[in-house]
Amino acid sequence: MAMRRRDLGKAMCGAVLASASTHAAADAPPGDTTLIRGGYVMTMEAARGDLPEADILVRDGRIAEIGHGLPAPAGADIVEAAGTVVLPGFVDAHTHGSISQMRGLYGNTPETAFFSVTSRLSAHYTPEDTYLGMLLSAVESAASGITTTADFFDNVRDRAHAEAGLKALRDAPIRARLLYGMKSKTTADPIDLAQVEEWQRGWEEHAAGGRLSLGLAWRLPQALDDAQAWAVKDREWETAHRLGLPIQVHVSGTVPGRPEAMFDALIARRMLRPGLQVIHATDARDDQIAALEEAGSGLVVTPLTEHRVGYGLTRIDRFAGIRRLGFGIDGSALAGFTDMFALMRLAALTQAGSARNEQAVSPRRLLELATVGGARALGLDATTGSLVPGRAADLQIVRLDAWNLAGFDGGDPSALLVYSARPEDITAVMVAGRFVKRDGHLTSYNVAALHNQARQSIRNIRRRAR
Ligand SMILES: [Zn+2]
Repeated sequence: MAMRRRDLGKAMCGAVLASASTHAAADAPPGDTTLIRGGYVMTMEAARGDLPEADILVRDGRIAEIGHGLPAPAGADIVEAAGTVVLPGFVDAHTHGSISQMRGLYGNTPETAFFSVTSRLSAHYTPEDTYLGMLLSAVESAASGITTTADFFDNVRDRAHAEAGLKALRDAPIRARLLYGMKSKTTADPIDLAQVEEWQRGWEEHAAGGRLSLGLAWRLPQALDDAQAWAVKDREWETAHRLGLPIQVHVSGTVPGRPEAMFDALIARRMLRPGLQVIHATDARDDQIAALEEAGSGLVVTPLTEHRVGYGLTRIDRFAGIRRLGFGIDGSALAGFTDMFALMRLAALTQAGSARNEQAVSPRRLLELATVGGARALGLDATTGSLVPGRAADLQIVRLDAWNLAGFDGGDPSALLVYSARPEDITAVMVAGRFVKRDGHLTSYNVAALHNQARQSIRNIRRRAR
């Protein structure tokens, strides 16, 4: 098994990982110690708050200590971070990595609308296309400060594609959850539960030292009154429940005139539970939101894509009572790219604009949703999303010397980050104690080769689809 996967990977990555080590990209060798010195540290944990000019000691992939004037252990990698902001890496709590090479094809006409283009082209994916899409998504995420992603893998097609998707996330530089989904976006073929069970039983072998986790990318029946379809869906849901796997489900309105019907179906069938994340809620009623919170489920909203496809306005103030609330990119090709700053800004402007009140929104709240909120939604907050000793060293360092940040003279940088920062301002990104971006550059990937392969991939997909 392991051998076969390695060979598959070798065949697929080729030039993409030419300069990468053979180890999974984000696994820190034990014993690595890094001291990040003198940055403005936003822990994103309420009890700790912000620590100006503080040091972070990272050891064995975890945060060992945060404080002032920490002594440098012998042999430690010292990173001078004075004049920067150090904050947790962003958590992208829902995405669709495999469509990333479709960027630029959604042109807002009936023929070029998101759903029609994606369904048409997805049917022509090879395992190599799947691998490239998911890897491209994860690599651009790393460059944009995202250290955790949850990839709703809903074009599994067959086991070779499934292996390719898993391989992509193993070769990716970030923490990832593979949400195993249906064979395609358009058919009602059930999820390959046998493979999900097999993976779950041997997950230790696939998990890249705990960096990867598994879940179910689950969909409601296309017709909500189709008893036969429900029998299949119930079995999938129960299998995930039995295996203790998290589940993600879209509740975006596809029932004409009843946009909240999918959410109602989940409630009526008592399917809301801890470990389940509902995706999108622009149409949700207050009683549905209350039911979700009472059940202990998570909610992931995706402002960039919800606006783009016309689901309505993402009003985050409507979800104020939800403890497990996070943001999702929802496919870099549809969102534009993996820009969490743009996403936070859109959410902030949407809320203030629709409330006609500048003070309706707190930049700090948006940063919480983009970090610890997403981790909570995924049930990963004991591991990532905040800077706390014992948790994984998943963090980003933002330099403040770019044009778009000029003039800022210290203090709380929340508003600066939400309204002015760009992914290019992130000089370093660390995942599990290892720098995956440093001095403004990715450390392990041949980006030009990856872009070139993505272009070839989409060219071939489009040719096969003609
Ligand atoms: Zn989605």
